Amino acid sequence: MKRLLVLLLTAMMLLAGCSSEPAPAETPDPTEPTEPSEPSEPTETKMTAGTYSSVGTGFKGDIKVDVTVTEDEVTEIEVVEHTETNGIGSEALLVLVDNVVKYQTAAVDSVAGATVTSNGFKTAVKDALTQAGADMGKFNATAVKGELKDETIDADVVVVGAGAAGMMSALYIAKEGYSVVLLEKTPMVGGASAMAGGTLAATNSQWQKDAGYEDSSEMLKERLLAAGHNKNHLPTVELYASIIGPNFDWIVSEEGGEMPYKNEGAGASFSFDGGGAGAMLKLKENLENAGVEILLSTEATELIVEGDAVVGVKATGEEANYTVNARSVILATGGYGNNRDLVPEEYFAFRYSGHSGHNGDALEMIKAVDGATRNLTWLNKQPNTMILPSGAPQYTNMGVNAVYKMSGILINENAERFAHESGDTWELMLRMEENERQYLLMDQENYEAFNEAMANRNIFNADDPDKWTADDYEGQPVYKGADTLEELAEKIDVPVDALKETVAKYNEAVTSGSDDEFGRELTTTIAEDGRYYALEMSIRYSTSLGGIQINDKMQVLNTSEVPVEGLYAAGEVVGGVQGDLYLGGSTFTWAMTSGVEAGRVVSEALAE
Ligand SMILES: Cc1cc2nc3c(=O)[nH]c(=O)nc-3n(C[C@H](O)[C@H](O)[C@H](O)COP(=O)(O)OP(=O)(O)OC[C@H]3O[C@@H](n4cnc5c(N)ncnc54)[C@H](O)[C@@H]3O)c2cc1C
Repeated sequence: MKRLLVLLLTAMMLLAGCSSEPAPAETPDPTEPTEPSEPSEPTETKMTAGTYSSVGTGFKGDIKVDVTVTEDEVTEIEVVEHTETNGIGSEALLVLVDNVVKYQTAAVDSVAGATVTSNGFKTAVKDALTQAGADMGKFNATAVKGELKDETIDADVVVVGAGAAGMMSALYIAKEGYSVVLLEKTPMVGGASAMAGGTLAATNSQWQKDAGYEDSSEMLKERLLAAGHNKNHLPTVELYASIIGPNFDWIVSEEGGEMPYKNEGAGASFSFDGGGAGAMLKLKENLENAGVEILLSTEATELIVEGDAVVGVKATGEEANYTVNARSVILATGGYGNNRDLVPEEYFAFRYSGHSGHNGDALEMIKAVDGATRNLTWLNKQPNTMILPSGAPQYTNMGVNAVYKMSGILINENAERFAHESGDTWELMLRMEENERQYLLMDQENYEAFNEAMANRNIFNADDPDKWTADDYEGQPVYKGADTLEELAEKIDVPVDALKETVAKYNEAVTSGSDDEFGRELTTTIAEDGRYYALEMSIRYSTSLGGIQINDKMQVLNTSEVPVEGLYAAGEVVGGVQGDLYLGGSTFTWAMTSGVEAGRVVSEALAE
């Protein structure tokens, strides 16, 4: 409506002969002698003051904005509606709104970890400004920032990276009464931890014992080694298995800020409302209450080294270059998945779905002390992935888990099944890598179950799949619907006869009770009629599995395996907990519990 009003006003002004353009100068009398004129200043284009509405595409759906301008300035931006993830997209939007108003340009930096949200927001703002008649040369220009001053901060500890590991260690140290500075290079806390499911495994914790769940450090160790195909670093696995229980107990204790985890009956694991993003928001609140100084948009660039010891870090923020002097430094910078120089080439065939702040900064920083790394050849690949309209890869685990209990199957470009769909993740991925493409094939009942499971976790809206499967929909995801298998085969370009044969063979195995060719337990047939659907599935990679070498005191080791004085590491930046594939849920738990551990050992060292 507001937009309509503005357009109407503009049209009326034009009809009445007025416009926001400057009036043409009077024509000079050719008989009058003329003074040589000064070159005139370029006239600035004025905006038509008002509020303009627009929409951009975010990670999960539309981002609607109202942009209010005077003739010269953007004065206010209201995000009227969005469905971005609470704690990630929602936080990024706050930052973006502030920055557009502060720097008077729509070309502000995207928020790392929320690039798709940022792009959708900026597109909407640019459109609104165009409607306002803004000089888009000016409003598309890079933000002009002031000169950086030099600042020195003295603290007991500086922690680099505000994800689960960094925030947990900072909290522990602050609770022990030491001063902590937490540096985060993006404008918001959370890192990849905010993107995770947020479930904590609680092996050996009091909670798990109370729940009567049978588990032990030895069993966790076996699970990690099995998932990682024994490529893990055994002492680091053993360290994890020994600290997980007591540190989980601390996280949910009063001291640990009573992180409100709850047992949903799974026994081994405990979940957090709002997933990883919810947990990170709560953790931020706990840090603020504990008096931790958090410097956002501040990137640690190098270690300060005196002799063989690390005594602080240098960092660059929006307004200052910092020298942070500290007795101990904890590196918690996450992985290296977003650094093409560090990611092995074989991964380039897949999409990266991790955090954009994972550039392996700490791996570069530790070179100053001859720090050692291991297993950098591996990142975690995962098969159950769909592509959202924004182009972002999205896990579908909750959706596929629902339909693999029914009759959802995977087919390749030849319309053939190729793996046990819900079997070993590694095997499934290897088989997928042999295909040109693959689809999740569903009948109507499966389609509804898949979509419901995904919408329940806010991955997409309940009405999105009907939009995506409409005949006139183009773009991502490739999600096709058809009344017959013949029609579906044509839409996804697979051989019709092969598709019918695959479905018939699967149904025959179910009805005859014979063993599935891939070993899956078959329960339900694919419907004989009704609509059929195919959703394209792919592989993504995100979490880094290699990283810094540490000892059992969380100290960074140099290449001679000697601990570097004053330097510690926690979370995904540490290499070797996992092998070539991670055990589901265990990387988030490692980040949380190793963060507590780093906090504990550093506090003990400071007390000596
Ligand atoms: C989409 C997705 C889903 C996942 N789901 C699960 C799951 O369900 N279960 C599970 O166990 N694991 C999951 N993981 C993995 C898990 O989330 C991570 O391994 C873990 O949370 C990492 O925690 P962290 O604290 O080590 O790193 P992060 O949480 O990433 O924090 C590191 C922080 O350091 C910052 N940083 C980097 N360099 C610098 C620098 N130079 N200066 C200042 N700051 C810097 C980064 O910006 C980032 O904010 C998932 C990962 C992704 C990407």
